[in-house]
Amino acid sequence: MLDFDAALALVLDDVPRAARERVALTRAAGRVLAESVMAKRPLPEFDYSAMDGYAVSCSDLADPDAVLPIVGTSAAGSAPARLEPGTTLRIFTGGPVPSGADAVVMQENVDSDGQRARFLEHPTPGQHVRKRGEDLELGQEALRRGIRLNAFQVGLCASLDTAELVVAKQPSVSVLCTGDELRLPGSAGPPGSIPESNGIALALMARAAGGRPHTTVSTGDEVDATRAAVQNALELGDVVVTVGGVSVGDRDIVKSTLESLGVTTVFHKVAIKPGKPLYFGKLGKKRVLGLPGNPSSAQVTFALFGLPLIRALQGMREVLPRRTHAQLTQAIHQKPGRRTFQRGMLNGDEVTPLDNQASGASTGMAWGNALIVVSEHTSLCEAGARVEVIPFEALW
Ligand code: AMP
Ligand code: MG
Repeated sequence: MLDFDAALALVLDDVPRAARERVALTRAAGRVLAESVMAKRPLPEFDYSAMDGYAVSCSDLADPDAVLPIVGTSAAGSAPARLEPGTTLRIFTGGPVPSGADAVVMQENVDSDGQRARFLEHPTPGQHVRKRGEDLELGQEALRRGIRLNAFQVGLCASLDTAELVVAKQPSVSVLCTGDELRLPGSAGPPGSIPESNGIALALMARAAGGRPHTTVSTGDEVDATRAAVQNALELGDVVVTVGGVSVGDRDIVKSTLESLGVTTVFHKVAIKPGKPLYFGKLGKKRVLGLPGNPSSAQVTFALFGLPLIRALQGMREVLPRRTHAQLTQAIHQKPGRRTFQRGMLNGDEVTPLDNQASGASTGMAWGNALIVVSEHTSLCEAGARVEVIPFEALW
C-alpha cells in the first residue's frame, strides 16, 4: 500500500495553476497573490518628520547660541517647502521636511516665543527625519507572489497606493456526500438515518484554504443517482471531494462511478490511520479526492491532502500545514504499518491524545487542537517522547 509521503507527492504533482484575476484591495484578504507587488514609488515618498519640533539645517547651528527666525510651518499634509539658510520651520509629525533642512530638533529641546527659536541641543544630520525610500526603495519587491494575503500585507499595499491586486482565482470545490443513511441536520428522517455532518465541516475547511466550496448532500448509494451527482460535481468543481462510499463494501460505488465518467485513478488506499480508503483521481485539470465517510477520517484526510491541494491550485508557495514538536504525556501503542494521525490536545510544549480515537468519532477533531503524527514503523511511542504535531491553527 502507498505510504503517506508517496500519496501526498502524487496529489501535489503537476497541479494546474489557477487563472488570475484583479481584485480590489478591499477584497484581497485571504487571496493568494499571483503577481509580486513592487514599490512603484518609494515608501515614504518624501522625507518627513518623526517628531513635533523644528526643521533645521545643522550647519546653521554650529554656534550653540544661534537664534533662528521661525518662517513657516510644515504639518502632515503640507506641501513640501524650502528652508532658506539661517531660518527654521515649525514641523509636526508626518510633516514634509523642507529641502535645505537635514534634521528635526524636538520641541522639548527648543526655546521659542513663536517668532524665534533657540536650540538647547546640537542636532546631528538625519536626526528625527524619516528618509524617502527608507522603508521601501523605488522598484523594490514589497510582497512576493504565492503568499496568502493577511491584514498587514493588504495594509502595506494600501501604503504603496495600490488599489487592486492580481490574485489567483479561487478553485471551485464540489463537496459531494453520499450515503442512504444521511439526512440534513435538524430534519426528520427514518429510524437509522443520521445527520449529514461532513459536508459543512469540509466546505468550511475548503473555504479556509481559499476555495469556493459548494456542497451536495446525500444522493443515496444507488448507482444512477450517484452517477448523476458525481457528473454534476465534476462539471462544477475544479476539485471534487466525495465523501463516503470509497471503502470496499458492496455499497461503495463512488470509485467505479468516477472511473465510468472518465476519471483516471491515481491511487486508492493509503497506509494511514484514519483514512485508509482514501482515493485520488484526475480528469483533465480537475482533481478528485474520495474521502471515507467517518467524520474523523474525512476531516483528517481533507486536512492532510485536500487543503494542500487547494492551496497549490492557487499557486501558494507553502501548502503544507505547519508542523511542530511536542512532548507526549502518555504512551501511544499501535499496530505498525500505517502512519497514524491521532487527535490530541496540545498545551504549551505537551500533547495528550484524546481518549476516543475512533474514525467515526465526531468529537475527535472538535475536541482536539492538534494531530499527533506517529510513524508507521513504530508500535510504541513512550510517554515523554517528542512527537511531531500538526496544530489545527495551521489549517485555517
Ligand atoms: P462510508 O465511508 O460510506 O463507508 O461511511 C463510513 C461511516 O461514516 C458510516 O458510519 C457512515 O454512516 C458515516 N458517514 C458517511 N458519510 C457521512 C456524512 N456525510 N456525515 C456523517 N457521517 C457519514
Ligand atoms: Mg456509505
